[in-house]
Amino acid sequence: MELYDLTIHEAANRLARRELSSRELTQAVLDRVRQVEEGVRAYVTVTEDLALKQAEEADKRIAAGDVSPLTGIPAAIKDLICTKGVPTTCGSRMLENFLPPYQAHVTERLLDAGLVMIGKANMDEFAMGSSTENSAFYPTRNPWDLERVPGGSSGGSAATVAASESIYALGSDTGGSIRQPAALCGVVGFKPTYGRISRFGLVAFASSLDQIGPLTKDVTDCALVMNVIAGHDKRDATSAPLDVPDYTQSLIPDLKGVRIGVPQEYFVEGMDDDVRASIEAAVNKMQELGAEVDWEVSLPSTGYALACYYIIAPSEAMANLARYDGVKYGYSDMRGDSMWQNMELTRQHGFGDEVKRRIMLGTYALSAGYYDAYYLKAQKVRTLIRREFDAAFQRCDVLVTAVSPTPAFKLGEKTADPLQMYLSDVCTIPVNIAGIPAISVPCGFAPAGGGSASGGDALPVGLQIMAKPFDEPAILRVAYAYEQATEWHKARPKL
Ligand code: GLN
Repeated sequence: MELYDLTIHEAANRLARRELSSRELTQAVLDRVRQVEEGVRAYVTVTEDLALKQAEEADKRIAAGDVSPLTGIPAAIKDLICTKGVPTTCGSRMLENFLPPYQAHVTERLLDAGLVMIGKANMDEFAMGSSTENSAFYPTRNPWDLERVPGGSSGGSAATVAASESIYALGSDTGGSIRQPAALCGVVGFKPTYGRISRFGLVAFASSLDQIGPLTKDVTDCALVMNVIAGHDKRDATSAPLDVPDYTQSLIPDLKGVRIGVPQEYFVEGMDDDVRASIEAAVNKMQELGAEVDWEVSLPSTGYALACYYIIAPSEAMANLARYDGVKYGYSDMRGDSMWQNMELTRQHGFGDEVKRRIMLGTYALSAGYYDAYYLKAQKVRTLIRREFDAAFQRCDVLVTAVSPTPAFKLGEKTADPLQMYLSDVCTIPVNIAGIPAISVPCGFAPAGGGSASGGDALPVGLQIMAKPFDEPAILRVAYAYEQATEWHKARPKL
């Protein structure tokens, strides 16, 4: 096994036993980046010098016995999480030259734990998208098939983990942006409960939906990263003032007494047969492991979640994006005759098409005369969706569904039709609407059919596990037990 293929826990064990130095591990990952990045294009910025310097510091800490499981482990950070003095572009021309003057809460936590940052990961512009094709710079490619998308918006983060260009990564998830790329790239991706992790220093897309989370090679690594980044932060008023459990305590290899529900509405029209079969097989496996399965759970408002999201998220986005005016920071076009014209020019050239589309949708939904019909209605639907989840979690500990109705699609396949692109998040969006936690874990492979003339290798399928607010431990337990009983997470793409 190559060093860059190690998980966090494997690498941390070797580092602790001094069989490996962070410097060697970091060099191995940097070499890997050099080897595969031309094909994958998962990074916007590679911070090689910084990584090597951080690795040396980590080795000193390890020698002094001052270690956390993340000390000296190379990671990728999605390029909308502020890293002080290191470009944070959000995949946008608007922030192409932006150097944050401060550190996000999560990066601060990781730095305290001994972060080695390999670089900033590519993404859909301002996290709007499901394929990373909306990056203003270049699309990232799926390490399992370079003709296909890695998912999005955290496609760069997921691809770095799948391609072993990082040992783990951070992403953000507003409607599926951690889980969907994790599923399409065959890695683990976790969106914690809204409020579990501070959003301080996360560039805002839709503030009532955004949440940061880890992308890792297995569930154990996910728990290790959660232990470091979760917890209250007074700089984010929505971060929950609750104690953080030791998530590794949830890594129990059986499911005795766990009640699993399978909501029928998530087997959506147009779902790939292989995806459906993988989900059903995974649930059967969980039953073998001791879980009680209820195949008849119903969440009747599920079908409204996508429409509800595409009112609420653009409404919040249009307000959040009003700060890009060409004056305070970021791209600035001052060739106009007035302040208003300069602002127009700045936005015209600084934002890409999808971002403009969202701003227009949000502005429309919030305008006088339409507010009640759209925004207010969407908020009511949001309450209904949340209540249905509450009711389901009275009877079940977790709910299990697909993450994405199809495996990775081809680059360019959905760019002409925004609605088709939006539909790839039908199974993940309700989770953000309700603010609950959910994970994506690998659960199989689907043959790369789907109209692909060139064929190609089989593509990863992801399983989604949801729980009630702050019941991350239930999710990690089910995910871990399932993972330990299967081999899917061990597969690596041939690159
Ligand atoms: N694909 C969804 C969107 O475009 C979700 C994105 C996200 O979670 N950031 O809005």
